[in-house]
Amino acid sequence: MTKLIDNFNRKVTYLRMSVTDRCDFRCVYCMTEKMRFLPRNQVLTLEELEFLGRAFVELGVNKIRITGGEPLVRNNILTLLQSLGKLSGLTELVITTNGSQLTKMAEQLRAAGVKRINISLDSLKAERFEKMTRVAKLDQVLAGIDAAINAGFEAIKLNTVILKNRNDDEINDLVAFAIDKAIDISFIEEMPLGVVSDHQRSETFYSNQQVLKKLEKSYTLIESIKNTGGPSKYYNVIDTNTRVGFISPHSHNFCDTCNRVRLTTEGRLLLCLGQEHSIDLKHIIRANPDNMSLVKQAIINAMDIKPKGHDFDINQSPEIIRYMNMTGG
Ligand code: SAM
Ligand code: SF4
Repeated sequence: MTKLIDNFNRKVTYLRMSVTDRCDFRCVYCMTEKMRFLPRNQVLTLEELEFLGRAFVELGVNKIRITGGEPLVRNNILTLLQSLGKLSGLTELVITTNGSQLTKMAEQLRAAGVKRINISLDSLKAERFEKMTRVAKLDQVLAGIDAAINAGFEAIKLNTVILKNRNDDEINDLVAFAIDKAIDISFIEEMPLGVVSDHQRSETFYSNQQVLKKLEKSYTLIESIKNTGGPSKYYNVIDTNTRVGFISPHSHNFCDTCNRVRLTTEGRLLLCLGQEHSIDLKHIIRANPDNMSLVKQAIINAMDIKPKGHDFDINQSPEIIRYMNMTGG
């Protein structure tokens, strides 16, 4: 039973942990071309990440998603995953990656106890992939997806951000690719986080309703009853092993059942992706090394400031100037 219950009686059982703000890609909706990354001493060490992961699991969190930045470019990330993978009470250790390191690491991740993996893929066309990610690594990512399939994860899901006039003509092709590989795919609406340099968000916004409409012309989709406690809605593609998900952070419907919190690269515990309510766990653990009961009490107390819901508006310039790579998407 989780000890993490907020003022709206929501039970927090899911932690998203950003293990680095660095990345080998520069996706246009996530980063500017010349990103400045955090100085090393501001970033949680692997030992601190493990300590905090243990605190959350002892408080009742049963699912941790490792994200970033690109989690697989963090030095010695496998040691963290191996320790987290051993925590009793943690039933789901999962990861979100851009796929660039998977040919090297897929098997080691599986062996460390990572059960499921999300791999980002916005285009199957090399030139366009490069325009969206600002790196020419499509072949490497496609090989990484195959490596993940061969490593035998319990589930693999592609994450796709659709931007109007950039990749909206590939929606059907990306779903066909997922069906061919017998894996799942989720479409994520662009979120107004951070400052992007090369497009206006209100011009590129492409809603999941539009994606669904397009897909329904080619596929029969049956709504799944699975509820993730998050902004995702799933459909089974009839006669296939593929599910299509829609992650619609602009909708408010999911806030009532929100079960998650986020740990930023800098050790801030964020209570809602779309709000600034947070506490500084790094400060607490560095001022009181090895004091597990103190940090646990701080996490319990933080539940009091978990906001009722978020406030995203794509037509406004973001009040939230955090970048996704620090927050953990
Ligand atoms: N680097 C890894 C990756 O790309 O999968 C993990 C971190 S990334 C921040 C996690 C997810 O957030 C990716 O699927 C990415 O497409 C998505 N993302 C990044 N910026 C976004 C934004 N502004 N709006 C919506 N999704 C975004
Ligand atoms: Fe890197 Fe992921 Fe952000 Fe792309 S979305 S720049 S891969 S952190």
